[in-house]
Amino acid sequence: MDNRALSRFLAQVLIMKAGIHPEYNEIAVTCSCGNVFNTRSTMKKALHVEVCSACHPFYTGKQKIVDTAGRVEKFRQKYALKK
Ligand SMILES: [Zn+2]
Repeated sequence: MDNRALSRFLAQVLIMKAGIHPEYNEIAVTCSCGNVFNTRSTMKKALHVEVCSACHPFYTGKQKIVDTAGRVEKFRQKYALKK
C-alpha cells in the first residue's frame, strides 16, 4: 500500500468517526508531525490529524496509536487481496 492509499484511509477513519455522509472534496491535511498532504474528504476545510503516512507506526515502527494501527493492518490485508 502506498502513502496516498494510507492517507485516504486515515481521512476516511476521521470521516467515519465524525459520522458525516460522503461528499468528497480535495482538501489539505496537516499532521501533528508537520507533514502536509492533499486528500479526498467530506470535509470542505483543511484537516489536522495526529498521524499520517510519514509518522504512522506502520512506517516508523513505533506503536503510537494501537487502535489505528489495528485498522490499518486490516485495511492493508484487504488492499493486498484486491491487488
Ligand atoms: Zn505525520
